[in-house]
Amino acid sequence: MPADRRGERQAALRAALAEAGLDALLVTHLPNIRYLTGFTGSAALLLIGAETATLVTDFRYAVQAPREVDSAAAVEIDQKSVWDRLGRVLAAAAPAALGIEAQALSVRDAERVSGLTRARLIPAVELVERLRAVKAPEEVAAVRSAAALAQAALEEVLPAVGPGLSELEVAAALEGALRRRGSEWHPFPTIVASGPRAALPHARTSAREIAAGEWLLLDFGAQVDGYCADLTRTVLVGRADERQRTVYELVRDAQRRALDHLRPGMTGREGDALARDVIAARGFGDAFGHSLGHGLGLEVHEAPRLAPTAEAALPLNAVVTVEPGIYLPGWGGVRLEDDVHLGPDGAELLSDGRTDLLELT
Ligand code: ZN
Ligand code: ZN
Repeated sequence: MPADRRGERQAALRAALAEAGLDALLVTHLPNIRYLTGFTGSAALLLIGAETATLVTDFRYAVQAPREVDSAAAVEIDQKSVWDRLGRVLAAAAPAALGIEAQALSVRDAERVSGLTRARLIPAVELVERLRAVKAPEEVAAVRSAAALAQAALEEVLPAVGPGLSELEVAAALEGALRRRGSEWHPFPTIVASGPRAALPHARTSAREIAAGEWLLLDFGAQVDGYCADLTRTVLVGRADERQRTVYELVRDAQRRALDHLRPGMTGREGDALARDVIAARGFGDAFGHSLGHGLGLEVHEAPRLAPTAEAALPLNAVVTVEPGIYLPGWGGVRLEDDVHLGPDGAELLSDGRTDLLELT
């Protein structure tokens, strides 16, 4: 990541702090720390002041932190307690109004911070997340790479999938292929749900054996340079019957409509309605019980949201999922999920969008 990008991001954050009347922000959410400094470790505190940036971490990162952070922040390593060290950093900075990340700091840690400083602690909500919602070209490219990797892994695994294999065996094959192809991590637990279990939108992959004539729903991700892709494909093990085909085509039409008409500047609710209206018009509205999509980036669920309750406008250069579904208890379910970049002309696919009904025979 270029150091100037981190400088740009910190400058944008400082403008947001000034607007919110804050002298400094204590950043505790690790993906936000990574975004602002490049630090990828599992423990750190970051103080962003009007002119300074100081990252506090412990001895485990004595080598890694200065190397990753470089000139993006001063790095302080404490052998004993990062909190005591933060206290000294706060004493030197002496902010009067200190923002804390309300969505990320536990009550216990907020009490700790308040014991370290005379500053007024002000809960600030998603200041860094709002910046992260707007992607730079290299961030979009990283999600695209992660999506390509995920698709290649699925293509490798599907030919061997058939009746008699368990969901867990399919998940193991898929996760192995993802790792071999270079995914840094599974951004969330892989979902492989067969038959009636495909009706559970967030099914936990089980030992159930896949049978002929059933749906197999696969929801899985990959991570490249820290950036996540999130894909869902639903395939038929065998030949689809008429109802299966009808429901599948309806989900596909709904996704297609959203992909064709999604634009930056729409609210998240308007974006969600593009697909929801198609499904509701055919009487399946109650069977689409989750929101249409979510932002993707350093986290697999981030801003913005495409949901009936999302009144915020979708920013230009957001990266989001588009994932309509229909779930019928006892029968199964179909979800199709692709990843898109919201450019000036609308939604540009980052995943392949190849959603022709696939029958594994
Ligand atoms: Zn997903
Ligand atoms: Zn998703």
